[in-house]
Amino acid sequence: MLSGLSALTIRCLEMPVINSLSRQVQLRRWGLVKRFRLPRWAEDLLAVALLDYTLFVWHVLTHRNRWLWRLHKVHHADLDLDACTALRFHFVEMIVSVPWRAAQVVAIGVNPRSLSIWQRLLMASILFHHSNVRLPERFERAMSWLVMTPRLHGIHHSSEPALRDTNWSSGLALWDILHGTRKTDVPQDTIRIGIEGFIQPEQVRLGHMLSLPFARDSEGPGET
Ligand SMILES: [Zn+2]
Repeated sequence: MLSGLSALTIRCLEMPVINSLSRQVQLRRWGLVKRFRLPRWAEDLLAVALLDYTLFVWHVLTHRNRWLWRLHKVHHADLDLDACTALRFHFVEMIVSVPWRAAQVVAIGVNPRSLSIWQRLLMASILFHHSNVRLPERFERAMSWLVMTPRLHGIHHSSEPALRDTNWSSGLALWDILHGTRKTDVPQDTIRIGIEGFIQPEQVRLGHMLSLPFARDSEGPGET
């Protein structure tokens, strides 16, 4: 249900706004990547990489800003990680992310084709790294140098604030490597998924999650 409300917000608000903005970008040649007059494939590649990086920045902001964290902590309150967690966001977080997404599209110069490629890759990536798929360890370790994996993203979903401040990427591992926030050496069986104070399934039910951002005792960034 929480995921349904979030998906509805994306379909009814984010997609119409962002898709039409992207068509304007193409028509009026707005944005950074349009300056370079690149071949189509290079423009797509650069736009997708920059969208991925600016989403990384947005993710950090949702933890650092106390108001955004009130919304984003709903996603972190899930008690175990699986593909459903990937879609389990408070719908107000989806609403407040629209101006950021609009700024990404205009500043980068994302045309409709690049946008569609990124949306598909992002959906595949977030379903994958929130899933409970257990990959062979050596393969996963090699892969985690390239993209976010379930084991590394599990560390980000730890109830321990210091661990939560790592592995922010939603796609390429490069951004965490460059920012020094990549963390790999945490045994999975020592991680408690969720946020402090929310350890019972009844505490993370729909009604409670919808009202959580607006609760008087909803605390600041990284303090839950
Ligand atoms: Zn997060």
